[in-house]
Amino acid sequence: MIDEQLIKRGISSPAVLKAMDVVPRHLFVSTDQRTMAYVDGPLPIGHGQTISQPYMVALMSQTLNLDAGSRVLEIGTGSGYQAAVLAEMDMEVYSIELIPELAEQATKNLELAGFSKVKVRTGDGYKGWPEEAPFDGIILTAAPEQIPQKLIEQLKSGGTMVLPVGAINQVQTLKKLTKTADGVTKTDLVKVRFVPMVRGKN
Ligand code: SAH
Repeated sequence: MIDEQLIKRGISSPAVLKAMDVVPRHLFVSTDQRTMAYVDGPLPIGHGQTISQPYMVALMSQTLNLDAGSRVLEIGTGSGYQAAVLAEMDMEVYSIELIPELAEQATKNLELAGFSKVKVRTGDGYKGWPEEAPFDGIILTAAPEQIPQKLIEQLKSGGTMVLPVGAINQVQTLKKLTKTADGVTKTDLVKVRFVPMVRGKN
C-alpha cells in the first residue's frame, strides 16, 4: 500500500507515510471486509457510508501540513480511520459524526486500535465544535456544496482547512483553504468523489 499507492503517487511526508504504515486499517472495517482493507479504494462501512481510499487519507493528511501537537477538527468520523492516522501523527484530534451508530462504532474501532485519546462526538458538522475552537486544522471527509462559514470561523489564523466541495452527485473539487489575518486563500487540488455532507435535523 505504502509504495504502490502512496509513494508512487507523490505522497512524500515522512510523518504521513509512517502513520499510514503503522495504523491497522483492517481494524476500521467490518470483519467481512478485512481481506479488502488495504486495497486501492474506498470500502463500505454501513449506513451508505465509506472509509476513504488510503491515497485520499494520505493526500488530505499531507495537505493539512501540520506539526505534531496541532489541534485538528475532523467532520465525518465514519470508521475513525482518518482520525487514527492524524492521532498517530501526534495531533490532538476532535471528530464529529452525524450518524450515532457510526460514531459509536468508530469509538470502538479507535479504542481497539489504541487511539482512545481521539475525541468523537455525534453531531452536525456544519456547527463545528465551538467549545474546543479554534483549531490549527479542519478536515472534512464529506462534501458540502459550499465551504461552511462556521468552520472557517473555528479555524485559527494561519490554520488550514482541507475539504471536498461540490453539488450532490457531481464530481467535487478537493480544496485547501488557508486563513490569514487578511482573509482566506483557496487552492483547488484534484477532482474527487466523497459522500455528501448532510444537514443535521436541528
Ligand atoms: N473519515 C472517514 C470517512 C467518512 S465518510 C473514515 O476515515 O472512515 C463521511 C462521513 O461523514 C460519513 O460517516 C457521514 O455519516 C458523515 N457525515 C455526513 N454529513 C455529516 C455532517 N453534517 N456532520 C458530521 N458528519 C457527517
